Amino acid sequence: MKKIVMITTGGTIAMKYDPDTGGLIPAVSGEDLMEAVPALRKTAEMEVVEFSNVPSGYMTPSKMLELSHVTDQICGRDDVDGVVITHGTDTLEETAYLLDLTLHTKKPVCITGAMRGASDTSWDGPGNILAAVQTAACDDAGGHGVLAVLNDKIHAAREVTKTHSTNTDTFASPYWGPLGYVYFDKPVIMRKNEHNEKIQPESIDENVYLIQCAAGMDDYLFRCLIEKPAAGVVVEGFGCGNVPPAVKAGIEAVLKAGIPVVLATRVSAGRVVEAYGYEGSAHSMRKAGILLAGECSGIKARLKLMLVLGLTRERGEIARYFY
Ligand code: ASP
Repeated sequence: MKKIVMITTGGTIAMKYDPDTGGLIPAVSGEDLMEAVPALRKTAEMEVVEFSNVPSGYMTPSKMLELSHVTDQICGRDDVDGVVITHGTDTLEETAYLLDLTLHTKKPVCITGAMRGASDTSWDGPGNILAAVQTAACDDAGGHGVLAVLNDKIHAAREVTKTHSTNTDTFASPYWGPLGYVYFDKPVIMRKNEHNEKIQPESIDENVYLIQCAAGMDDYLFRCLIEKPAAGVVVEGFGCGNVPPAVKAGIEAVLKAGIPVVLATRVSAGRVVEAYGYEGSAHSMRKAGILLAGECSGIKARLKLMLVLGLTRERGEIARYFY
């Protein structure tokens, strides 16, 4: 039987209704979580490590990097075959992606959560934990990077995103679909995740900002970032990566101040493409020195730039990491 370590970080999966506050609050320990899934005993030998018990909105990129180090340490043990991380769903895709880029281990690492709390009738925590452990313990799970396992779907960390604010079927991979499914107790991975990009700095630079474009937006926020000064900026443009003319002027000013700027799209699927020639198009901005995020969403490009800035400040080197 394989040995799987479950690292708990918090989230709705570990929350219960609290009459005093009138909502869900952290209330379930790692041990309680494991006890809630008796079927785990038939699936793997289990151990629990409590990393934190916080809503995932309290996670920071530095905490995510700390979690990556803890995961690598645990995976370095000969008796451990894989890890499952429980996490709030709000920032799950960000932690999954940061782990995907930074982990050294080749052992399976699955991340899961729940959309309903432990006091709700339809708590989806136990089912998601079981599916994640089954996936981490299956022979095909290695070599795909970090896997997000929720609602019986297996997603690659770099592709997965939360698509609905409350529905239990919220996680999707809008570009290419899930890598696989869990059929009752059998995980089936149907396509390989070919991407194994690694960025492994000692520390991270969190001074990176994300700005989403909206119609008629001006350059005000960009001027603020020059004044701060930010270490890096990620812009989510329209469509395949276009921005209003005033935003282009703001981006040029940021670039002139020596701050790297990465362009992603605010659309949930598809990549940045240099299809247009007009002022404010992805092409016009690439000529001005902006870096293109490819398929990477804005929130993930922000984490990637934080990690890259932990390695280098040299423009050419930074550019090497972006599509
Ligand atoms: N607010 C919660 C969190 O991310 C939502 C969840 O876990 O589903 O911690």
